[in-house]
Amino acid sequence: MKPKFVRCEFCKAEIQSDACKLAAYKTMIDGKEYVFCCVKCAERYKQKEKAK
Ligand SMILES: [Zn+2]
Repeated sequence: MKPKFVRCEFCKAEIQSDACKLAAYKTMIDGKEYVFCCVKCAERYKQKEKAK
């Protein structure tokens, strides 16, 4: 099986989700699940969305 990669929604860093689940930060925004490399990226992404 190939390792599953996800990308941080903010900085586009690759996150190997199978290797270490703690490496990725998941959060729900408007009922949709987003994956980030860290909590800081999640906070910045939320602020970017609000600024629209
Ligand atoms: Zn990131």
